Amino acid sequence: MKKRLVILGGGESGVGTAVLGSKQGFEVFVSDKGKIAPHYEKQLNEYKIPYESGQHTADKILNADVVMKSPGIPEKAEVVKKLRAQKVKIVGEIEFASRYTDAQIIGITGANGKTTTTALTYHILKNGGVNVGVGGNIGKSFALQVATESYDHYVLEISSFQLDDIETFRPHIAVLTNITPDHLDRYEYNLQNYVNSKFNIVKYQNAQDYFIYCADDEITMANMQSHPTPAQKIPFSYDTEFAEGGYVKDNNIIINHKNQPFTMSIQELGLRGRHNVYNSLAAGIVANIYGLRKDQIKESLADFKSLEHRLETVTKVRGIEFINDSKATNVNSTWYALETVDKPIIWIAGGIDKGNDYSILQPLVKSKVKAMICLGMDNNKLHAAFGKCVDILVNCTNMKDAVRMAYNLGDSGDAVMLSPACASFDLFENYQDRGDKFREAVKAL
Ligand code: ADP
Repeated sequence: MKKRLVILGGGESGVGTAVLGSKQGFEVFVSDKGKIAPHYEKQLNEYKIPYESGQHTADKILNADVVMKSPGIPEKAEVVKKLRAQKVKIVGEIEFASRYTDAQIIGITGANGKTTTTALTYHILKNGGVNVGVGGNIGKSFALQVATESYDHYVLEISSFQLDDIETFRPHIAVLTNITPDHLDRYEYNLQNYVNSKFNIVKYQNAQDYFIYCADDEITMANMQSHPTPAQKIPFSYDTEFAEGGYVKDNNIIINHKNQPFTMSIQELGLRGRHNVYNSLAAGIVANIYGLRKDQIKESLADFKSLEHRLETVTKVRGIEFINDSKATNVNSTWYALETVDKPIIWIAGGIDKGNDYSILQPLVKSKVKAMICLGMDNNKLHAAFGKCVDILVNCTNMKDAVRMAYNLGDSGDAVMLSPACASFDLFENYQDRGDKFREAVKAL
């Protein structure tokens, strides 16, 4: 008899898993409490996969042999609680899909830098002639690609939610960019739960595998011993030199792997900022493990363009540079943005505070920010944290006003930067919408 696969959530990962499940001979049912987007409905219809939208019907869900829970659905959702109570097996998309491919997997996780490092690694491997796909938050879901493509390698961006329910998932190369507090609302406000989830990336690795990590990251380092792995460990760092690993010396990145050093000037990297030196080191180490030609790796690290909404220069108006860093939804990423920009900054920040501690930003704000524009429904915490750090601090409730105000406050040679350090859902649909509105407002100046 066919096994019943129930999928909670009819988005990219849900529909991809549905297609893969049906090809693998499961009886599939998709259930989404919200509305399933028309193009996903179309895809489900094409594969004749039954689904419901706008409700979760218990009778059709609790009889599952296995459930795939989309990453957006929290543990506290009623339907998940019921499934847990009945001890039904629940897995994530990455876990499910990885069971049906022999492709070699590079899994990239971390609090910040996942998408950038994933896209950069993919760019280098693809240019190097590897038959490689990319998945996770980028493009088509991994599950759909396993069902419909034939890649020998995948670079996957993996969130902590995807790592919560893994049972066998074993990336050949695991990358942990860093760990800083984020999404704690999903982890009972316990940082250790979040850390444990991130370290699941190495849980099933063996001695032939690799674990690439940031040796400058305090939380990572403090948790290495309690999460042992037989994988070969390759660190990267700004300050510490490694015989096997990546680091920075005399303004060059250096990667030592198997006694064949790779060197490249930081100035030549396509991405700017200290955080992107880390991301370039991580991606460069992967490329060196793959044994790609060094001139080819260099070329790809040099010609990679910044992704949208991540320190993206929109344009210059009257000598003022406008930078869209809407993806900075936590304090740590904003710290790197403020550190990177070498001009007087008019800083647009705010939104939904996820329990932020702003104190680490204060020294940078004092030295670099000439005016601050708070763009959120509730700006009290920002005022309390930065009232004494900047001379000018104003409130706005829409992007148009914020950009206009910033423009009026700016002089030639300044930068206006949207780097909110907060989630966007109070005034915008998501960070993309916030960044798009910023761009539109700048272009309308
Ligand atoms: P993620 O996918 O983990 O959210 P992104 O690559 O989309 O990461 O970057 C998110 C934000 O964090 C951006 O504002 C970016 O400038 C910043 N960022 C990127 N890489 C790092 C890093 N290694 N450390 C800290 N911040 C980073």
